[in-house]
Amino acid sequence: MRILTAKHVLPITSDPIEDGAVVIDGSNIVAVGKTADVSKQFPDAGTDDFGDAAILPGFVNCHSHLEITAMRGALDDVEHDFMAWLIKLSRVRESMSDDEIAEAAYIGALEGAQAGVTCFGDIGRLGHIGLSGLKRAGLRGVVFQETEFSPENRTADNDFKKLIGKFERLAAESTDLVRVGLSPHAPYTVSSRLFESIAQFSIIERFPLTIHAAESLAEQELLTDGGGEFVRVYEKYSVDWESPAIGGGFGRFVATAVRNGQSCVFSSAEHAAVGLVIAPPSTPTPTPSSSLTPRPRPTPRPR
Ligand SMILES: [Zn+2]
Repeated sequence: MRILTAKHVLPITSDPIEDGAVVIDGSNIVAVGKTADVSKQFPDAGTDDFGDAAILPGFVNCHSHLEITAMRGALDDVEHDFMAWLIKLSRVRESMSDDEIAEAAYIGALEGAQAGVTCFGDIGRLGHIGLSGLKRAGLRGVVFQETEFSPENRTADNDFKKLIGKFERLAAESTDLVRVGLSPHAPYTVSSRLFESIAQFSIIERFPLTIHAAESLAEQELLTDGGGEFVRVYEKYSVDWESPAIGGGFGRFVATAVRNGQSCVFSSAEHAAVGLVIAPPSTPTPTPSSSLTPRPRPTPRPR
């Protein structure tokens, strides 16, 4: 049993405590309060005083890509052009070995820890690399196995089979601290049919899901008008992309995530498409549809 004390303790679920203490027993927190009170309650416990500091829960980075840590700065020149950014990202990734990517992922996890991040939601094409990085750094997280480029319904069954193979290999490596989930990359790279398969699978297995949505104006144009730059790319490469219609694969995927208790955070463009309303209060949102609206959980207040 140890008592950790500091000028400030921030429980987050209640008001800050000045001259506060956190009592730990192994990996469990057994008490939080004023140092003076806690010291009386646990007279035999040793104390580590951090002085003029704040003790608070670790931060959560709910969207990281540890496997591309080494690309910092390498894509800055194409930041303004989403398509060019995607192409350059793939090219740089292909130029790196798996060992180089794994080392970078581990360093990324350590860098997060240094900044106070103790829990990651990490998305990876090479899921096992993020998972190993987090395990090696002793951090907590959910590693989401991401789909490959799989926009066509005709290959969906095979795409799903390959994805589940990777997911199961990843799940075999999971621990109490690092769990696994799936990430259909984005509406424009995942077929409607694959979305449905992933949604069904997640209902049965009850694992977390995440997705990239509404990242660019080009994507918004594709989903709302069925046109724009993506359509030109599909035509160029003869890709038979079928819109994941709202109420179809993509909509059901989102509804499944919500039913599984996940809080979906979408930008306003995506709100417009699926009628979800969890967002900062200042974000203007359209009127939600009744059935898909998740209820934000109230912040518990101490009594
Ligand atoms: Zn991302």
